[in-house]
Amino acid sequence: MRKKIVAGNWKMNKTFLEAEELVAQVAEALESRKMENKTVVLCPPFPYLELATDIAEEANFSVGAQNVYPEDSGAFTGEVSPSMLVSMEVEYCIIGHSERRKYFGESHEFLTRKLDALLKHNIIPIFCCGEVLPERKAKKHFKVVEKQLDESLFHLKKDEIAMVVIAYEPVWAIGTGVNATPQQAQEMHAFIRSLIAKKYSQKLADEIPILYGGSCNSKNAKELFSNPDVDGGLIGGASLKAEDFIGIVDSF
Ligand code: PEP
Repeated sequence: MRKKIVAGNWKMNKTFLEAEELVAQVAEALESRKMENKTVVLCPPFPYLELATDIAEEANFSVGAQNVYPEDSGAFTGEVSPSMLVSMEVEYCIIGHSERRKYFGESHEFLTRKLDALLKHNIIPIFCCGEVLPERKAKKHFKVVEKQLDESLFHLKKDEIAMVVIAYEPVWAIGTGVNATPQQAQEMHAFIRSLIAKKYSQKLADEIPILYGGSCNSKNAKELFSNPDVDGGLIGGASLKAEDFIGIVDSF
């Protein structure tokens, strides 16, 4: 059975004190919950990773970064390497998020380098893919996602892709309050799984968690997560308040 994952992408939000408060609230709420088949991942901004990993040691959540630079060290001002993340006990890292593709021009080639760098350091990539609205309207969404996986992910060997978590995030649903319908999510997740089965094996396809992201909240999570191929969520806005985030964690 695939593990259920709820990951909170805080993006560029919270002051240090607010971050401390939110991590503590999530940790406290998770203390009393059964987490056997669930993984919660908090992805705060870089400066707050250490406060999160310190608390995570004694708590029911893991910590992820929102970005990484694909070199071990060197003259890359402002960047953070995979070995730095490992040294802070960061276990996950989001890559391919549409905001990084759009605002920072991250290409397929660059994502491939990031993936390889993360896997080399045993950090679990949360690889985001998804179409923009005109692509969906033109009914090109399957083709777009297939291309994203083909170009950035499917160069991996079997044992490498086995480590990856995929997040389907239709760009038109991110931060808009308009989520994909459970049917739209399910059909894309099933499609992604079929691509993995075709490229690698059905066994592998059955093992890889595929999360949904895009205006997921404590009200719509239950229906979205009840689909057989939706293994959890990558949560933006609703991860910024403990109550909302925990409501989503409780939706399984
Ligand atoms: C995201 O950016 O990963 C995301 C899913 O955002 P939101 O939940 O705010 O739509």
